Amino acid sequence: MAKNNYPRCAKCPTRVCENQGRKAGEGPPSLLKVPAFCPMKLMPEVYPAAMKEYDIPRVKEFARRASVQEFQCYERLPDGRRTRLPRIEELIQFARKCGYRRLGLAHCGGLMYEAGLVTDILEANGFQVASVQCKTGAVPKERIGIAPNEKIAGPEAWETMCNPIAQAMIVNQAGVDLAVMLGLCIGHDTLFIRYCDVPLTVLAVKDRVTGHNPLAAVYASATYYRRLRSKID
Ligand code: SF4
Repeated sequence: MAKNNYPRCAKCPTRVCENQGRKAGEGPPSLLKVPAFCPMKLMPEVYPAAMKEYDIPRVKEFARRASVQEFQCYERLPDGRRTRLPRIEELIQFARKCGYRRLGLAHCGGLMYEAGLVTDILEANGFQVASVQCKTGAVPKERIGIAPNEKIAGPEAWETMCNPIAQAMIVNQAGVDLAVMLGLCIGHDTLFIRYCDVPLTVLAVKDRVTGHNPLAAVYASATYYRRLRSKID
């Protein structure tokens, strides 16, 4: 693969891979019209390797359940297709499909209220919920090299570091079937994902400004958040 030729599906004018309008069983699309940056052209060896993974029975069954869940998020009505499930309901249905009993909620300390609501909902639906917030361990931020002027509450204050590695280790040990991330910060979520050994999904990501809906600013980037389209400091 040439150095400056890398996959860019987000810029694709053709979306040939979706094979829209063709009938089941008609076969895959021709790649003649895919752009030069198409991963199907750049990295064709990936696809057989990926399909080999789906041939592992437990992986195949997991993928099948996920696709059935995707299907159940829509309904086809005489006037067209509609969406029908918020993500929390999708999570409940998928966890049931997989036979999961205990879920591990890894949440931010800033989302204690939301973590309580989510726990109530999941428990009302028959799940056990092991939860652990990011400040667990009570380790001061100085331990990872944070300077006094980098503390949110001010230089003099005790500030407990977010500890996503401990969160992950606790979730790993708590006998959960599925970890659910709720509002972890950017970077902390990266560490949690890196150290979490159980199947993992995300209920919500943190966005302090938009009610934890980062796409709100993205949608408004042609209007009120136009500054996002210039280089940001
Ligand atoms: S896989 Fe290829 S055809 Fe499909 S969206 Fe990406 S670039 Fe376009």
